[in-house]
Amino acid sequence: MKEVDFIWMDGDFVEWENAKVHILTHALHYGTGVFEGIRAYKTGDSTAVFRLDEHMERFINSAKIINMELDHTKDELIEVIDKLIVKNDLDSCYIRPIAYRGYKKMGVNPLNNPVNISIATWPWGEYLGEGALKNGIDTQTSSWSRHHPNIFPSKAKATGNYLNSVMAKMEAIENGYVESIMLNPQGYVAEGTGENLFMVRNGELFTAPTSDVLEGITRKSIIEIAKDLGYSVKKEPITRDQIYISDEAFFTGTAAEVTPIKSVDRRIISDGKGPVTDEIQNVFLKTVKGKIDKYKKWIHKVKK
Ligand code: PMP
Repeated sequence: MKEVDFIWMDGDFVEWENAKVHILTHALHYGTGVFEGIRAYKTGDSTAVFRLDEHMERFINSAKIINMELDHTKDELIEVIDKLIVKNDLDSCYIRPIAYRGYKKMGVNPLNNPVNISIATWPWGEYLGEGALKNGIDTQTSSWSRHHPNIFPSKAKATGNYLNSVMAKMEAIENGYVESIMLNPQGYVAEGTGENLFMVRNGELFTAPTSDVLEGITRKSIIEIAKDLGYSVKKEPITRDQIYISDEAFFTGTAAEVTPIKSVDRRIISDGKGPVTDEIQNVFLKTVKGKIDKYKKWIHKVKK
């Protein structure tokens, strides 16, 4: 990865190579952390962070779900992000806040351990590989199910939850695919390992019900963009074979942006990027750079 100068840790800007934690950090052993993934884009002479407020809102909600009280407010953290981007001299970059149970006591009970918080930023290109946005990717249905909400808190972007994604991601790569599509415990399509999923059939868009997936901020944006473009968008259970016979399918996510799905389980969905995906991706990539007036409300300009 591309290293930059500083990472913010519990109130201090620490040099990248010194941003370390104790080996007995609770979160390292028990997955007791929450994080966010946010992107900033270069726009003219400024840097635009996409839907920063909503990301930080989800961060605070994730912490609430796993019983962690943060000793910084949303506005304070937003101010830190502004400062960090400037200090690291970045324009387009990825932003990774994390809050976690730190070092004090070992054992499953986290309630007596401190809550630490840190924010890192670094330059990050196409998450699903070079050319993924243009050409699409090959995917498989994972043999790992997405977690049932009574097993893991699916609305929290919690570190422990991600072992599920990691297993499905490794399985995809070992099988020669780029990404896995995960089904919920009932067998319906949920999401990717770090993305939400849409399919297009007969000019209509479909995505899994909100209860089954992480409430993706890109997903929410795409639903609004697609509706504004005149498409109907339905949130309903989707089966894997509906995707096999869909006209187009794509992943959405902060890291993945709008990535076309070229194939699922070796069934070709579309030859690269289909026309609806193309149109939506186009609008999205302009939106994040603050080029569409209607969606400028989603842009946070970094104060330099
Ligand atoms: N689902 C999962 C499991 C994710 O990790 C992500 C990435 N945060 C998403 C969906 C997409 O969410 P967003 O658009 O907010 O990045």
